[in-house]
Amino acid sequence: EAKSRDGRTYAFYTDALTRDARARIQLVANLRRALTEHEFTVHYQPIVRLEDQTIVGAEALVRWITPEGEMIGPDRFIPVAEETGLIVPLGDFVLAAACTQMARWRKAGLPCAFVAVNISAGQLSATDICAKTEAALAASGVPADSIEFEITESMLFGADSGAESKLKRITELGVRIAIDDFGTGYSSLAYLKRFPISRLKIDKSFVDDLPMSVVDGELVRAMIDMGRALHIEVLAEGVEDAGQMAFLAANGCTYGQGFFWSRPLPPERFEALFSNASQIPWARAGTA
Ligand code: C2E
Ligand code: MG
Ligand code: MG
Ligand code: MG
Repeated sequence: EAKSRDGRTYAFYTDALTRDARARIQLVANLRRALTEHEFTVHYQPIVRLEDQTIVGAEALVRWITPEGEMIGPDRFIPVAEETGLIVPLGDFVLAAACTQMARWRKAGLPCAFVAVNISAGQLSATDICAKTEAALAASGVPADSIEFEITESMLFGADSGAESKLKRITELGVRIAIDDFGTGYSSLAYLKRFPISRLKIDKSFVDDLPMSVVDGELVRAMIDMGRALHIEVLAEGVEDAGQMAFLAANGCTYGQGFFWSRPLPPERFEALFSNASQIPWARAGTA
């Protein structure tokens, strides 16, 4: 652009680049420190069966608590962790934490059947994901089918034979596979034939404008019907209000997750949702 050849504009531009580059270098350094200093923690968001509004599982979502006490969400550091390879040790931490948490909940008799863990492409291409999964299961003693891996469509579409055989081995261990952000990837549906997929997680963007949007309503209905025909469980993400919930339940969606029920919570607050009854407060209040 001609304007950027102007001396002052150019100088401003390089300053901005330098600032971004510095901030990024700083972030990478902070992430490394955060790993060694154990600044990461895992929160859990309930996954609810719509039929009876009961919590059946949880999604593990990583958080970074800085030494200043600020909580930073994954959208601000997962992309950089992926680019730098730090996603591998970070992912190891989340998997181990989720398995350990699941073991505690089972021991305490908490009726939470599974915990879902987000897996990045970089973790799949790291050679030892299967061995790590086996080790995490063995160390915690939780059954493999109480752990679910959330992957995205693009990871299956771009999967080389190595990634594909790793996923197969992981499912052979008994770990379940969910497709996260379903409907947003540039992908064919052919992977649904090649992999044993347990759950489709309909992306929040299709849920946002329910029940008003006719188009989104039809798309969601089509995804639910496809899941039913293929015996794949269907979950709607990002459910925030009773209108969305009612549309999903009326159209045969089996599971939901979203602020309507609860935000992601630290483990002790997640556990408190179960106290006194298997029914959770919103169901007792007559929401169901
Ligand atoms: P995701 O896996 O699709 O997780 C759902 C995200 O939507 C979470 O954001 C959750 O807090 C948010 N959410 C849930 N219900 C609602 C709702 O009703 N309304 C709104 N507005 N948001 C809702 P979060 O925790 O910030 O995570 C963002 C993304 O970061 C995740 O999207 C996932 O892709 C990634 N991520 C989180 N934890 C991990 C991890 O341990 N490993 C990897 N590789 N990625 C992770
Ligand atoms: Mg997820
Ligand atoms: Mg998602
Ligand atoms: Mg996502």
